[in-house]
Amino acid sequence: MIFKKRTHTCGELRLTDINSQITLNGWVSKKRDLGGLLFIDIRDRYGLTQIKIAPENTEAYTKAIKLGQEFVISVSGKVIKRESINKNIPTGEIEIEVSEIEVLNESEVPPFVIEEDVKASDELRLKYRYLDIRRKNISDNLILRSKVSHIVHRYFEKNNFVEIETPVLMKSTPEGARDYLVPSRVHKGKFYALPQSPQIYKQILMVSGMDRYVQICKCFRDEDLRADRQPEFTQIDLEMSFVTQDDVFEILEGMFGEIWKEVKGIELPVKFRRMTYDEAMKNYGSDKPDLRIRGDMKIENLSEIVKNSEFKVFQDALSVKAGVVAGIKLSGKEVTRKIIDSLTDFIKKLGFGGLGYLKYNSDGTVQSPMTKFLTEEILTGIKELFKAENGDTVFILSGENLKVLQSLGSLRLKFAEDFKLTDETIYEFLWVTDFPLFHYDEEEKRFFAEHHVFTMPKDEYIKFLDSRDKDEVESIRANCYDLVLNGHEITSGSIRIHKPDIQKKVFDMIGLTDEEAKMKFGFILEAFRYGAPPHGGAAVGYDRVIAILAGLKSITDTIAFPKTLRATSLMDECPSEVSGIQLEELGIEISKPAVKQ
Ligand code: ASP
Repeated sequence: MIFKKRTHTCGELRLTDINSQITLNGWVSKKRDLGGLLFIDIRDRYGLTQIKIAPENTEAYTKAIKLGQEFVISVSGKVIKRESINKNIPTGEIEIEVSEIEVLNESEVPPFVIEEDVKASDELRLKYRYLDIRRKNISDNLILRSKVSHIVHRYFEKNNFVEIETPVLMKSTPEGARDYLVPSRVHKGKFYALPQSPQIYKQILMVSGMDRYVQICKCFRDEDLRADRQPEFTQIDLEMSFVTQDDVFEILEGMFGEIWKEVKGIELPVKFRRMTYDEAMKNYGSDKPDLRIRGDMKIENLSEIVKNSEFKVFQDALSVKAGVVAGIKLSGKEVTRKIIDSLTDFIKKLGFGGLGYLKYNSDGTVQSPMTKFLTEEILTGIKELFKAENGDTVFILSGENLKVLQSLGSLRLKFAEDFKLTDETIYEFLWVTDFPLFHYDEEEKRFFAEHHVFTMPKDEYIKFLDSRDKDEVESIRANCYDLVLNGHEITSGSIRIHKPDIQKKVFDMIGLTDEEAKMKFGFILEAFRYGAPPHGGAAVGYDRVIAILAGLKSITDTIAFPKTLRATSLMDECPSEVSGIQLEELGIEISKPAVKQ
């Protein structure tokens, strides 16, 4: 088909182009009939341009009058100055006086109007994702994503990294999330797994001497999806040999520095703040503290101050192992009875009997159901610890240490949201370091690796790998780190175990027998027998980084074709049933008919 090709995009023309003869190709966005004169907005991914068709131009006018929404057109004409300027769009000072219109294709009436402030439900938008992507809100995210990807590739190339593609069909090594499995036709009854991450391959590449590896790769985890998780997601995966934690940090700080400079025009600090896991938990009740909250709102431990109190709730909490009394202060906010009630409900859902509070009224009195149980000395101690002033409220919880800290952490975030205490204009990067190596699962009555089984304990804790004392084992800290941005974990990684004796002790600790270890990880253990260098790395949650850069709360609209919370794609309707022949070839029988979604 021969058609008049565009001389410009729909976002390009300005006053400097006045009187030029041009051609635009694009979609009909909006059509207005103003007393004979027809105005149409023509759209492509670069922007919108207003075109004007006068009835005197009979041929063009007859065609234009029949144009429907989303028809694909080619228009030619002259750039002229616009009478009523539209300051909201870059092309708003000009319009096109059309001489010729060609209809390149018609469109059915779209199921929703393609506009920034879309009225359609999320389901409809996902079903017609190709139409949704015509909206600037979505296409801009994809363009941003592409830009960041170019910056990342350039950055790693400059820093001598080798980009290596690792397999998508791999061995199932369940430990962590559930694998997506792919049945083998050639080897009936056997399965590949889709990678949860290229972890094993990248470590093996270190044995191969490819000492700086990077890949922007897809990872797959078959989890019951929580809000804002996708079954397939993207990581910037990297691994380096002969490095310490600081070297990994430096490379990633450089990468984020370059992304923020190019995308946002913001100079990030050369080095990001650091905090140990223990400090983060103690002060913020979270391993991913949001440091943008005004006043910081740190958790304070009150155990020492209240330890001699006769208040039964505190006594009970402190009499058990790892019991604690702690609190946070909300500064200068009017805390009504209604607010206290709703906070109490919130805290009860987290498994507490109630929420203690001390409200410092503007007249200097203290309002609290607890005052009658607490001595003057204790009340003064609490007030001084929090530097509480009139108008502040201190909230107190007591119970098991971790539960109290995490719940105060949740309360801190709730206050930030309810009282708008977060500075949304800043980016707070924070390395959280020294994570525990193991956590104990009470249900399964065994230890699990906190990050993954290849994570190296810190030197001073290696001795505890031989211990079976729960406290000692839980005290082991690892060369394991997360990068947190504005309260989101955007990267995690570790220095890896490269010595077989340490690896064996870690396997022993999580109850993996030699045989099981060989079955699951035999090939990597074998590779490690041939000179594994000291190495470490990390993986960046790419979708989340793009969401933060784009100012989006969810990762969904950073992905061209995302899945729903139930792991389905509404556009192509997957997962779907397959034919009997396909199943037969794979040697698979379905035991129950597939449940209709
Ligand atoms: N593969 C790890 C993850 O996906 C990151 C790493 O240790 O490099 O969390």
